[in-house]
Amino acid sequence: MTVRPIRLFPDEVLRVRCPEVETFDDELRRLVADMVETMRAAPGVGLAAPQVGVERRVMVVDLSAGEDPAQLHVFVNPRIVEEEGSIADVEGCLSIPGISEKVERPQRVRVEARDLAGERFELAAEDWLARAICHETDHLDGVLFVDRLRGLRREKVRRQLRKMAAEVEEAVLS
Ligand SMILES: [Zn+2]
Repeated sequence: MTVRPIRLFPDEVLRVRCPEVETFDDELRRLVADMVETMRAAPGVGLAAPQVGVERRVMVVDLSAGEDPAQLHVFVNPRIVEEEGSIADVEGCLSIPGISEKVERPQRVRVEARDLAGERFELAAEDWLARAICHETDHLDGVLFVDRLRGLRREKVRRQLRKMAAEVEEAVLS
C-alpha cells in the first residue's frame, strides 16, 4: 500500500467526469488499497479516485478515520438512488486545504454501488455518512463542495479560490 499524492485545487483532474470501472482486477484492488492508505495518512474521512489523479468512479469513506475497520466503505461505480431531507453542516475537502463552509446536503441517501469483486450492493446512510457519500460522488462528476455554496458564502470562497489558483500559478512560473 502506498500513500499517493493528493491532487489540489485547481488541478484539472478534479473537474473530470470520471468513467465507470469495467474491470474488477488487481489494478483496481491496488488503487483502493492506496486510496485507503492515502485517506488515513491525510487524515481524512473520504477520498475519491480523481483526488489521486485516477479518472475512475471509485471512492472510499471512513468516518472513523482509520479507528474502526467496520466503518470503511468502498464504492465502485456508486449511484445515489434516493435522497431525503436536507441539512446544512460544515464541510471541507482534502483537495482544497484551508477552506471549510456550510453546505446543504440530503439528510438521508440510498446508494447503489459495486464492491471490489464487482458485486452490486446497496447502502442506506444518514447524516455524516450521507454527507460524505454525497461529497465523494460529486468528485466523480468533477463537482467540488465549493460549487454547492450560495450567496455571500460563495462569493467569499470564490475570492479565496482565485487567490489559491494564483499562488499555484506563481509557484509554477517561478
Ligand atoms: Zn473532497
